Amino acid sequence: MELRALPSSALSEHLISCFVPRYIKIKNICKLNLEEKAAAMRRSFDQLLRFNLRCSAKGDSATVSASNAHGMELSFSNIPPHDARILYSVAPSMGHNKENHPESNLRVPAIVNALEAFELTSKYRGLEVFEMQNFPPASVDDIARVHARAYVAGLEKAMSKATDEGIIFIDGSGPTYATETTFQESLIAAGAGLSLVDSVVSASINSPNPPIGFALIRPPGHHAIPNGPMGFCVFGNIAVAARYAQHVHGLSRVLIIDFDVHHGNGTCDAFYDDPNVFFLSTHQVGSYPGTGKIEQVGQGKGEGTTLNLPLPGGSGDYAMRCVFDEVIAPCAQRFKPDIILVSAGYDAHVLDPLAGLQFTAGTYYMLASSIKQLAKELCKGRCVFFLEGGYNLQSLSHSVVDTFRAFLGEPSLAPEFDDPAILYEEPLSKAKQVIQKVKHLHSL
Ligand SMILES: [Zn+2]
Repeated sequence: MELRALPSSALSEHLISCFVPRYIKIKNICKLNLEEKAAAMRRSFDQLLRFNLRCSAKGDSATVSASNAHGMELSFSNIPPHDARILYSVAPSMGHNKENHPESNLRVPAIVNALEAFELTSKYRGLEVFEMQNFPPASVDDIARVHARAYVAGLEKAMSKATDEGIIFIDGSGPTYATETTFQESLIAAGAGLSLVDSVVSASINSPNPPIGFALIRPPGHHAIPNGPMGFCVFGNIAVAARYAQHVHGLSRVLIIDFDVHHGNGTCDAFYDDPNVFFLSTHQVGSYPGTGKIEQVGQGKGEGTTLNLPLPGGSGDYAMRCVFDEVIAPCAQRFKPDIILVSAGYDAHVLDPLAGLQFTAGTYYMLASSIKQLAKELCKGRCVFFLEGGYNLQSLSHSVVDTFRAFLGEPSLAPEFDDPAILYEEPLSKAKQVIQKVKHLHSL
């Protein structure tokens, strides 16, 4: 099908909404009507790239592919079906790896294998669970909405040193390694999140129940600060997606919920004075990197739109349920976001080797289903999860399986996954004191 012959149908609207923002620099694409989008797309490609675009539809899904004047083939995007309930993208960064490092290239394949084993992939679920493939990497401009261009350029330059030396350390303030593929693979990981934002936002225009997105990506992102990498993180995937949602889709108010066991200091820094991005982090008190104190509430116009809740070591399912009901839900309801993005770290699990909280698969099931419900209530269901930490491959993959089941509204498999015998008593009175203090500070 020729692009210039695209019909004014729901399919082409959906296709253009997913496709245009990533390739053509148009601010606030959502404000254009269908004809304007198609015209902009034709103009840009005719004048700048001279691609031969082909759009094909199969069943309820569509694909865009193209070749340029030199015959170079480019395959762009799978356009998700309208009735998908989960969209996910996979960026395992196989070349970004260091022997015996907890943030290893085994993590994403372990999750994908578990999804397969528990019949949660499209092979078993048809169009209900859809994997986005051939998504484009994030551009340097996308990354530069959060990170200093000098850092991005410096990292790209460092790749030749990494090629010579095999592995290098790219940061003095946290143990972050790089290999010769780190730069490119980190762009792909960030791009995986942006494609999900495109698709979820686009689906929310036509459906009251759009799919929820999950970017199964690494390297993780929430420690990466605007000026550099930190704590296994290269680019702030979720921060880049938040700015992208604002800039490209015109969604001005973004809520970021970060339930990784560590404080998402990079995301926190990126939006510390921004009143339109609410950053809410739960983490273990005293854990890496030591930031995220209750008193850190944002500054300037952003005062009050950062909420840090450091939980005492040993906190688990009960404490987190209280946190959700008494802090996360009322905060979200008051802020009224246009989209909810989630830094989904699974290292607060009781079996995780890097920390000392006592979450279980059941805790993650509760969080996934409650956050999905919040998104439905507050922002037309627009919600995308981003993988952050989680270093015990079994508890990581089981917890993501239960997250998917929560998204689908199917019963939790926690009784099968969790062993209550390994849990010890939660420090409930201490946890409640912290919750009360946060509620007081934020007038909740
Ligand atoms: Zn973590």
